[in-house]
Amino acid sequence: MYPVIDYEKCTGALTCYEVCPADVFEAKEKDRVKKAIVTRPDDCVECDQCVDACPEDAIELVED
Ligand code: SF4
Repeated sequence: MYPVIDYEKCTGALTCYEVCPADVFEAKEKDRVKKAIVTRPDDCVECDQCVDACPEDAIELVED
């Protein structure tokens, strides 16, 4: 599984980027704010920390 971010909900808090133990996200300019981008989905260890930490409930893990 790997995370998918709903950019309609994402406000660029970057909590997923900060909590991820596997370095799955990068912080990049998007929609004129810095937002997390999933750049290494294969490295996801399915710990759910990004899902739990997101203040906007904007992340879900999906099947490969
Ligand atoms: S589930 Fe865990 S390892 Fe996977 S992207 Fe989220 S924080 Fe990173």
